[in-house]
Amino acid sequence: MGEFCLKKKFYASLVAVSMALVPTLALSQTTVNMPRNRYEVQRDVQIGQQYSTEIEKVFPVLNDRISNDYVQDVGARLVANIPVRFRQPQFRYNFKVVNASDINAFALPGGPMYVNRGMIEAARNEGEMAGVMAHEISHVALRHATAQATKQGSWQNQLGTIGLILGGAILGGQAGAQAGAIAATAWQTKYSREYETQADILGAQIMAAAGYDPRDLANMFQTIAAQGGGRAPEWLSSHPDPGNRFQRINQEAARLRVSPEPIKITREFQSVPASLQSKRGQS
Ligand SMILES: [Zn+2]
Repeated sequence: MGEFCLKKKFYASLVAVSMALVPTLALSQTTVNMPRNRYEVQRDVQIGQQYSTEIEKVFPVLNDRISNDYVQDVGARLVANIPVRFRQPQFRYNFKVVNASDINAFALPGGPMYVNRGMIEAARNEGEMAGVMAHEISHVALRHATAQATKQGSWQNQLGTIGLILGGAILGGQAGAQAGAIAATAWQTKYSREYETQADILGAQIMAAAGYDPRDLANMFQTIAAQGGGRAPEWLSSHPDPGNRFQRINQEAARLRVSPEPIKITREFQSVPASLQSKRGQS
């Protein structure tokens, strides 16, 4: 009987404990909603293909299997953890390293993504690099380019402007990386603050699901700011207000199930810089 009572007490305390946990568990992850979009999914794919062709004419895409394989692997792990409701069978995510020292990365609609050598070199661990990639993947998954065009009501204007800038850069005959940077910035600044927040939140969720610590995305804003030197690095100029974002991403991280041993320093992360170093100056 004594044992029964003890058991009863034990179960009663279990119930008390689990009830006490309920409010914490109820603080669930933020729901991200797909923005309204009047374009067909195929339109995103078309735009991405068109611009990746243009961009690769001016961008010095790095011809280094080790680093390309590496960003491809990290990217694939993140893509595999995009929530089901944001997956598009038509999208083809792929990741290339650009031989430019500017700290920058960007993705085109439908999936082509470019990560500068400078971004990989700036990251203090794989999570920080993956954070920027998860953020960019989120812009693609949420179809932000065509969603923004839907909101502005004039797709032609937006696309026309980007096309002109790209065309100008090519005709201007500037050094590839510089011209490419102009095009990339022109593309990135198109996103509204609301979409940036969405990409931060979904990016944090994808990171946690993929085994990374979303706080590394928050940390990357500080890492980039610290390494900027005199001028603002490209990615920060298109991604303003790092302080607020740092806080918001960490808030979201507190609501997510994060691995107790998140991916940080991997063998690849340690070996890729040497491979990048050997390609410096080449393009
Ligand atoms: Zn962004």
